[in-house]
Amino acid sequence: MSNNVKRPKYIFVTGGVVSSLGKGIAAASIGLLLKQRGLKVTMMKCDPYINVDPGTMNPFQHGEVFVLDDGAETDLDLGHYERFLDIDLSRLSNVTSGQIYDAVIQRERRGGYLGATVQVIPHVTNEIKERIKQLPERVGDVDVVIVEIGGTVGDIESLPFLEAIRQLALEEEDEDTLFIHLTLVPYFEGSGELKTKPTQHSVKALREIGIDPDILICRSPQPLTREIKKKIGLYCNVPPEAVIQDLDIEVIYELPIQFHRELLDNLLVHYMKLLCKDLDITNWAAMVGRMKNPQHQVRVGVCGKYINLRDAYKSIIEAFAHAGGANSARVELVWISSEKISEDGPATHLSDIDGLLVPGGFGERGIEGKIEAIGYARTNGIPFLGICLGLQCAVIEFARNVCGIADAHSSEFAPETKIPVIDFMEEQKKITDKGGTMRLGSYACRINRSSLAHRLYGVLNINERHRHRYEVNNAFRARLEECGMVCSGVNPERDLVEMIELPDHPFFIAGQFHPELKSRPMKPHPLFAGLVEAAVKFKESRLAPKDIEKSLK
Ligand code: GLN
Repeated sequence: MSNNVKRPKYIFVTGGVVSSLGKGIAAASIGLLLKQRGLKVTMMKCDPYINVDPGTMNPFQHGEVFVLDDGAETDLDLGHYERFLDIDLSRLSNVTSGQIYDAVIQRERRGGYLGATVQVIPHVTNEIKERIKQLPERVGDVDVVIVEIGGTVGDIESLPFLEAIRQLALEEEDEDTLFIHLTLVPYFEGSGELKTKPTQHSVKALREIGIDPDILICRSPQPLTREIKKKIGLYCNVPPEAVIQDLDIEVIYELPIQFHRELLDNLLVHYMKLLCKDLDITNWAAMVGRMKNPQHQVRVGVCGKYINLRDAYKSIIEAFAHAGGANSARVELVWISSEKISEDGPATHLSDIDGLLVPGGFGERGIEGKIEAIGYARTNGIPFLGICLGLQCAVIEFARNVCGIADAHSSEFAPETKIPVIDFMEEQKKITDKGGTMRLGSYACRINRSSLAHRLYGVLNINERHRHRYEVNNAFRARLEECGMVCSGVNPERDLVEMIELPDHPFFIAGQFHPELKSRPMKPHPLFAGLVEAAVKFKESRLAPKDIEKSLK
């Protein structure tokens, strides 16, 4: 290998004891620390399930599908990676067992294994190792690749991935790979103690398959004392300094700061012999400070159908945290079931909110409730942001109640409708497969000069990420515009409506794309920042008369 080709180093992050410990956030926090030390970092998630990607999974089971610029439908942890590191990842950063087996079986069918018996070791594990090594090669100029292995150690499904990273570490120089294991140290009220046994067992399971973790990150509700760190270190064969506490925190962006206090970045630099500068985390810490100490408080309603599973709206929740930080506002999200709106009437749920967001979604259930909620926001001057399905419902509501087309509908929910103001695109009609068949990924949008969209974005040409099958039907565009709706963003190549707005309303805007996927803590998305700003103003305008009354008393 020539001297000027960089050899990337690998950090492997595994998890034990239970799922949902925040492994993705911990991995992303490690990435941020290394980035802030001047290193070039990229990240990857290996998901052990057999689905090729999470695109076909029910959000109730899997949570949000995070769409990348290149249209890859990926795990929501990729959202954390992009947000913490402020990078745009590609489909190479999410590998599933489904993809691995698919590639192996296709190669076998082509005769690519020259008659060999195709086995998990070495064929499946080789395919995994190749994917891991391919990422830094394709990205180029990478110092550190952080690879998170999904699932919990002990799961049958994740074994090929663990075996592959074990082999990969053997093939590399010692200081070029590092294993970090995230576990849980629970607290027992009764005895008033932190319990280390689950961590010991989890590390034992990992060592049985040949992986000795170098660093343990311990999620715990109470600080880990020096004694506890020593005990964990002794049983798990790491020095106490390599036992890092991961306490519950108010905002997730605080985790890198917590890790830095535990000297985690020093440890990484030392173990991996990384050549880099000192940590600069000042701007990041200031951003966290803004999120934690807001001056205002607003309540924004989120009207959707997956409201009982917050993971289904992960990026939306984060986009509001970013927008709140930018507006010095604590944004309290009020989760409103769209079906309840139909049952109780919109005023019951919306009369005391300062803003409304109608997010994306699929299927007919809850649609009429969303349409009613949007109508209420439109007629009561409540700031409104519609995302994807939210835009489609806003168009249906406007067509019915302003343009007077009572039967206006989307052909997704009413296939026989005579007035499909939202319709299926011609080229999609031939596709029968479900996986990866939508309009996916980044598309250009040209914005009208002097529109609200222009004021918010500050530019006329943007790119946003999509995930949908249906579109505003151009046959009805003139009618919508005659009645006062402005199509303020249009895809230049195919003349598709990407944004709509109502100039007569204080803040009413929607996008056919998913702005939440591109919001970053240091670069809040303009549509979310705009909604929160409008919500603060709306709240103040509503409070004003009462405040005046109070001051007169
Ligand atoms: N179901 C709608 C469509 O397929 C909207 C999708 C979405 O909101 N992501 O067009």
